[in-house]
Amino acid sequence: MHIPLPLRAFVVASTLGACAPDGDAAPPATDPLAALSADSAVIVDELRLLSADDMEGRGTGTPGAALALAFLEARFGEAGLEPVGEGFTHPFSWSRGAAGPRAGANLVGQRPGAERPGRVIVVSGHYDHEGVRNGEIFNGADDNASGAVGLVALARALRGVPLRHTVVFAAFDAEEVGLRGAREFVAQPPVPLDSIVLNINMDMVARTGGILWAAGAHHTPALRPILESVATRAPLDLRLGHDSPAGSPRDDWTSQSDHGAFHEAGIPFVYLGVDDHPDYHRPTDDFERVVPGEYMNALRTALMVLLAMDQALQPTGS
Ligand SMILES: [Zn+2]
Repeated sequence: MHIPLPLRAFVVASTLGACAPDGDAAPPATDPLAALSADSAVIVDELRLLSADDMEGRGTGTPGAALALAFLEARFGEAGLEPVGEGFTHPFSWSRGAAGPRAGANLVGQRPGAERPGRVIVVSGHYDHEGVRNGEIFNGADDNASGAVGLVALARALRGVPLRHTVVFAAFDAEEVGLRGAREFVAQPPVPLDSIVLNINMDMVARTGGILWAAGAHHTPALRPILESVATRAPLDLRLGHDSPAGSPRDDWTSQSDHGAFHEAGIPFVYLGVDDHPDYHRPTDDFERVVPGEYMNALRTALMVLLAMDQALQPTGS
């Protein structure tokens, strides 16, 4: 079995508590969880807008996807994220067999780390979905307007909050046609691949029914105690699993979404998502079927995971 290389570069800190800064005079930092909660009406409305019919199911290469990209790009800027490279939008294309080239675009923004700017946590969520089929719009509210809006929500909640690591926020395109956007990101990385210590991927984080899965600790056991610690505090039932090849292939989600591209490159991942539901990949995956409180609790949990990872992952030898 393949051992992820970046794991050699960090160990889990023995304690999560940080030392008080000299002088103790610094004002208390903004509480990002409180900021997230205060933003909830805006967030839920963004989920409604990104999964509305005029986005036409956000099929890669369609006008609906372009609308979605513009919608998210404006919010990346408002959240105070910095472009990585030329700008937020990173176009790419690919060919498969005899089919002609297809085009997509990832959205990438970053906020530099205060302590470890050369160490990167990539928070991802794809914004594309199935588009229109047989006249029916696949709005993909859960899959994955929820994760794409979640990225923006986390970035806003973290404004002014010092984090140790640089955090790159990536809204990937073309996930539904084979993790194409994430594979492009890994193949042509906008930040050095060996600077990426972790991918946190959100794909389907709205329809929790009170249960959210965190996959990835099977492959990177150092993540387990961090996730278990979050689980004791999370506002929902955070369960570790769906990452082992030992059981049925259907139950192993290691390659089921964009984190699979990071995993293949030897980068540890945490995938956050819900169990499949009857509206999964059907035209009924609509905003109206999302319970806003469940969605917000999933985003609170995702934010807790990011904050915990930022604190607990420790580079060594630097
Ligand atoms: Zn998805």
